[in-house]
Amino acid sequence: MLDMSADEFRRAGHEVVDWIADYLAGIREYPVVSQVQPGELTGLIPPSAPEQGETIDDILADFRGIVIPGVTHWNHPRFHAYFSNSASGPGILGEMLTAALNVNGMVWKSCPAATELEQITLGWLREWLGLPEEFFGIIYDTASVSTMHAIAAARELVDPEARTRGSLPNLTVYTSSHAHSSVEKGAIAIGVGQDNVRKIPVDAGFCMIPAALAEAIEQDIAAGRKPCCIVPSVGTTSTSSIDPIPAIAGIAERSGAWLHVDASYGGPAAIVPELRHIFDGVGRAHSLVLNPHKWLFTPMDISAFYTRRPDILRRAFSLVPEFLRTAEDGSVVNYMDYGVPLGRRFRALKLWFVMRYFGRERIADLIRSHVAWAHELAEDIKSDERFELAAPVPLSLICFRYKGTDEQNRTLLDRINASGIAFLSHTVLNEKFVLRLAIGNIRTAETDLEHVWSFIQSLANDLDAPN
Ligand code: PLP
Repeated sequence: MLDMSADEFRRAGHEVVDWIADYLAGIREYPVVSQVQPGELTGLIPPSAPEQGETIDDILADFRGIVIPGVTHWNHPRFHAYFSNSASGPGILGEMLTAALNVNGMVWKSCPAATELEQITLGWLREWLGLPEEFFGIIYDTASVSTMHAIAAARELVDPEARTRGSLPNLTVYTSSHAHSSVEKGAIAIGVGQDNVRKIPVDAGFCMIPAALAEAIEQDIAAGRKPCCIVPSVGTTSTSSIDPIPAIAGIAERSGAWLHVDASYGGPAAIVPELRHIFDGVGRAHSLVLNPHKWLFTPMDISAFYTRRPDILRRAFSLVPEFLRTAEDGSVVNYMDYGVPLGRRFRALKLWFVMRYFGRERIADLIRSHVAWAHELAEDIKSDERFELAAPVPLSLICFRYKGTDEQNRTLLDRINASGIAFLSHTVLNEKFVLRLAIGNIRTAETDLEHVWSFIQSLANDLDAPN
């Protein structure tokens, strides 16, 4: 037998599970940000793969000794960079079983459970989010790929011949100047082109200005251009600002363009009843993306895409070679018809585990706590006269800065991240360098935030007095 024996697998598997359990229980012992230098890990690994197989014990020893020092710990409760995320226990178990089953859910027949559990799980999530029942759900790997598919569907809606002819040069995509770069990348990939992406200005709270959107569309139509897709965000990347979806939906409806809402990070907050208002108007969108791998405690990668026009998405992508035809084609969903990938991992399994294990109330409680802690920390920051908030805090992301130079803020960030105590990231707002602290990890406790904030305050003592 070439593969591991069942006994060897069982022994090594138990060791791996023990390691994972200890790792998660002792995660605070690790520096959040890897302390290795570029190339350090490469220097420790042979340049060529082994001719003869090695023992699993040797491989696991190198995993611990060589790989782990090069890991930045996204599961760490004081990982506050980008949008902090985390792999929960049930999510990890689901992911392990996905690897073990190794199914490919390209068509219903190739693994009925993969297709049906994807439909069921996304139906449950749709209900938790209060989205209309007609929203059809599909899982892609990332929000960037979800948004690329939205732009492809938008192109199909406004220019059905593009699929065969290629894109017209006058299609135009609208998003805000604070939208994630994935919108522009989607336009590049679908052939709309970067020059045809309008970045609509934002107001003082970093939200898209609907009047500016309406004006841009009007000018473009007058110049012979065709509005294709409008992409507002519920939770922009820099500040988590929430674009005014109802007003934007009205403009989208009048223009005939596809409306795609990027709620990659912010979306899960709509599970919390008192935060549901962030989804006002979202039911009018053609599509929506949110990432369970961001703020729904499900391991990378899983992006949930919803559309109320699956017919258009299917029209954009369905291309069925003879060898993929099945007897059930007329009566089932074959997910390969709704996007570029043919092969599809069984990603729904881990989300199903997470949703069942925690239930809606515990997930809502967690998200509610993250938002409440963000507001408390924002108050603490405001009450230290050396610091200032740099943006409103609608969800669980705090943008703030030392009231000094950009250089001082950069130094502060470098010292925080070099300490191993916490990991923050940055952005630039109103031409000033700003620190971002995102809360979203399942293992973060309020005491972690107190620890991080008092550490930042102590580092500020070493900086020259602010202006
Ligand atoms: N949209 C927003 C608002 C984001 O913040 C991000 C990433 O942080 C993305 C899209 C891209 O997500 P992904 O890494 O899943 O492509």
